[in-house]
Amino acid sequence: MINELNKGAILIISGPSGCGKSSLLKKFYEHFTNYYFSISTTTRAPRIGEVHGIDYFFVTKEEFEEDIKNNNFLEYARVHDNYYGTSMKPINQALNEQRLVIFDIDVQGHDLVRKKLNDITTSVFITTPTLNELEKRLIKRNTDTETIIQNRLKNAKIELESLDKYDYFILNDDLDVASKKLISIGHASMIKASLFSKQVIIENWIG
Ligand code: 5GP
Repeated sequence: MINELNKGAILIISGPSGCGKSSLLKKFYEHFTNYYFSISTTTRAPRIGEVHGIDYFFVTKEEFEEDIKNNNFLEYARVHDNYYGTSMKPINQALNEQRLVIFDIDVQGHDLVRKKLNDITTSVFITTPTLNELEKRLIKRNTDTETIIQNRLKNAKIELESLDKYDYFILNDDLDVASKKLISIGHASMIKASLFSKQVIIENWIG
């Protein structure tokens, strides 16, 4: 019944770099099939192990600004001195295929998507139990300089101020517990009442 009536839904996941979003999503994908992960475009340099077209589309500042000019982005933002953006085209296709479209985007991106596609959007904010724990994880990850880490921590504190704009909150303390919560949220976001056409439901219902 769902597939006949709705178009797909969006699940926004936000949270500071290093809070464990990627590990949580890996667990999530083991339990969820009908999803599309939105691969963002960014001007930041790839980290070791990151692959163009899988983790991000890595582009130059000029290429990114060309995409802005051509209106190719559903949303974009400057985060930690780099551009990050979500291209519109693959999202439309995935929504038409009735998929759950997952965005790993920051708070600014969240606000913009909500403005444009609020009815089909559910959002979850994920973070570590403490700022100290986040710092430890960033240091352990060993992909950023001390200056970048301090910048990310500063940003994490600012982002937490927007917590009340989100539908759900997950403290990523225990990966198994947190991933179960995320899977439940994924299922719930596909059956939001606002995804359904009241008119069609009533017609079907009456027969
Ligand atoms: P990182 O550099 O750690 O991969 O990501 C830095 C931040 O940029 C994270 O908070 C992440 O959620 C955010 N981000 C990644 N892609 C996008 C995007 O397409 N749009 C927006 N607004 N933020 C993004």
